[in-house]
Amino acid sequence: MIRKAEERVSEITKTILEGMPREAMVERVKYEGPRIAIHTKNPAYLLSNNFIIADIVNMVKKRIVVRVDKSLRKPVEEARKLILNSIPEGVEASLIFFDKVLGEAIVEVKDPRALLSKGFDPIKLTAETGWKVVVKRAPQTRSSSMQLIYRALSENFEARRKSLEEIGERIFRERLLEGEEITVLSLGGFKQVGRSAILVTTAESKILLDCGIHPGARNPIDMYPRLDWANLSLDELDAVIISHAHLDHSGFLPFLFKYGYKGPVYCTEPTLSLTVLLLTDMIRIAQAEGREPPFDMRDVMEFVRHCITLPYSMVTDISPDVKLVLNNAGHILGSASIHLHIGEGKYNIIYTGDFKFGRTLLLKSANTNYIRAETLIIESTYGSRSDVMPSREEAERRLVETLNQTLNEGGKVLIPVPAVGRAQEIMLVLDKYMRSGELVEVPVFIEGMLSEANAIHTAYPEYLSNELRRRIVEGGENPFASEYFTTIDHPSKRDEALGEEPAIIMATSGMLEGGPVMEYLKHIAPDEKNKIVFVSYQVSGTLGRRILDGASQASVMDEGGKIRIIDIKSKVERVEGFSGHSDYNQLISFVARLRPKVRRVIVNHGERKKAEELASSISRLFRIPALAPNVCEAVRLY
Ligand SMILES: [Zn+2]
Repeated sequence: MIRKAEERVSEITKTILEGMPREAMVERVKYEGPRIAIHTKNPAYLLSNNFIIADIVNMVKKRIVVRVDKSLRKPVEEARKLILNSIPEGVEASLIFFDKVLGEAIVEVKDPRALLSKGFDPIKLTAETGWKVVVKRAPQTRSSSMQLIYRALSENFEARRKSLEEIGERIFRERLLEGEEITVLSLGGFKQVGRSAILVTTAESKILLDCGIHPGARNPIDMYPRLDWANLSLDELDAVIISHAHLDHSGFLPFLFKYGYKGPVYCTEPTLSLTVLLLTDMIRIAQAEGREPPFDMRDVMEFVRHCITLPYSMVTDISPDVKLVLNNAGHILGSASIHLHIGEGKYNIIYTGDFKFGRTLLLKSANTNYIRAETLIIESTYGSRSDVMPSREEAERRLVETLNQTLNEGGKVLIPVPAVGRAQEIMLVLDKYMRSGELVEVPVFIEGMLSEANAIHTAYPEYLSNELRRRIVEGGENPFASEYFTTIDHPSKRDEALGEEPAIIMATSGMLEGGPVMEYLKHIAPDEKNKIVFVSYQVSGTLGRRILDGASQASVMDEGGKIRIIDIKSKVERVEGFSGHSDYNQLISFVARLRPKVRRVIVNHGERKKAEELASSISRLFRIPALAPNVCEAVRLY
């Protein structure tokens, strides 16, 4: 197999070398994961004459990247000095990271536009230093998750270099089988919300879409995807693709590496940062509760080293017969629908992941344009005909009303939020209404994890709504740093939030399954003056769901690890309409708007009744077969 791959690369190398002018000084052509890397001794020439690479991409239909030949690389400290000396006055680099595998020098600055407009010239510096200089936007406040990613990439880099080559050899291996069967296996997240995992098998490849855990499950057989049922050995897997960072889609990743997976994980760049944040937090929560975490930081770091990030709408080969495109899903920062393009475009699967077909303050609405599409796999969190949510204006009005009620009576409001998604959306809403005077101005306390997630949002404005992007890119503003917000970055500061005055407290986890929110819950729930406001979906089996369904008591863990029963006397309210999921009408209009029209629909990610109702609505309205399988079923597509 490896010999074949070598022959393939030599074929591609030949085409590339033939199309390359002598000035390009190409030394080598190598696989670098799903890309083909051209190593040159004259990087400035290739980087300033973009059309040469564009022409070759058109010819070989592969992703190509320019790399500087290793012989030109100056020692790191010398290169760092040269780069630092070229940074104009008034601009500050938060960090310069030397990626020894890719030969890149990443320069992170808060305002890349200012840097580039003041004469900083990455191409010239690339030629001078022998490192490919890449300018990136730094988060507006420090993000420890993003730091951790750099640390992971700076360790074990020989292994990472080798792994990228091996991944490349595997992707570009020759097709052996001429079969055309395509099957979808439901390994988790079917007729349920949690542990999303779908295995797509083709004649040549096995690809795992999402790989999550079930937050409400109490035993392992319900908590994790059923890879055992699929009889799948991890080295058979060609790729894992993650639609977005939420743990019910990503939480099983470290287990894969713990048990020996060595292949690539594809997702967007923000999804990588946010997943690291959520996985790290999962370990931290387990430790705080005196539980042995099911995986450790080593497994998370391995995931980072095997992660290949892709921007939206870039076509990438991920196996001999499958190409992948990620598109905006509008659910959380970096969330993507997964488009698999199988067998030279013969068959196309669109998997929505969690998606929002509607605009929010935070994000753009989900993409509906695909070049080809035969099967749609669609989520059904709000798939019942009765799941029609109030409009955004109505939702905002109701939230402001219910907050004002409690705050005016001197009570406190606890809003349990998932760290990523609803937290940022609700912060933007609170800020907007306090500014306009419609919402009582009180301090809003934000637990530390949220400000870490906020920081990551400010590093990727191109993934945000147009208005937020403008505020960050043009205004240099941090939309999550309003004067109303106080960050609680240490447990000792919680007393401030729990003092006498009316206040709003936002904390994780969003479904009251551990995390700092539990500390606030103990104090806030027993007092009838207070209120708990839910703004996100509560998975069945979680404490959040039980309280929402009217539980009058809850058991919580004390510092000593003892279980204590608390009374729920506070008011409990759900405000709908802020969800990052599409409601019933949005799900149906998404299918109606989808281009081209699909031939078959598979429904997942919804409780039994929701999944079944959405399937029957779709087949009735669009006259196409739509089914809602259980976990552990196989659907033959082709
Ligand atoms: Zn989600």
